[in-house]
Amino acid sequence: MSKIYCSIDNCHYWDQGNYCNASAIMVTSDSYANQAPEAMDAPKHAEFPQMHADSCMETCCKTFVHKDSE
Ligand code: SF4
Repeated sequence: MSKIYCSIDNCHYWDQGNYCNASAIMVTSDSYANQAPEAMDAPKHAEFPQMHADSCMETCCKTFVHKDSE
């Protein structure tokens, strides 16, 4: 089990106890995630541009998948 804890319970990878069951996740900036295609995710981690954030409010998990979309 990963040591990624997450409270987004409508994500496909979320599990009871606030665990993330994804084998890898990609965290990026909100601004990049807003315009990046769905295919840009953890397997393409090396292709993501490096960027800065001023607070946690500007970052997000790009790996999120709505559990109803599976
Ligand atoms: S993939 Fe991201 S949003 Fe989904 S459970 Fe894991 S950390 Fe949370």
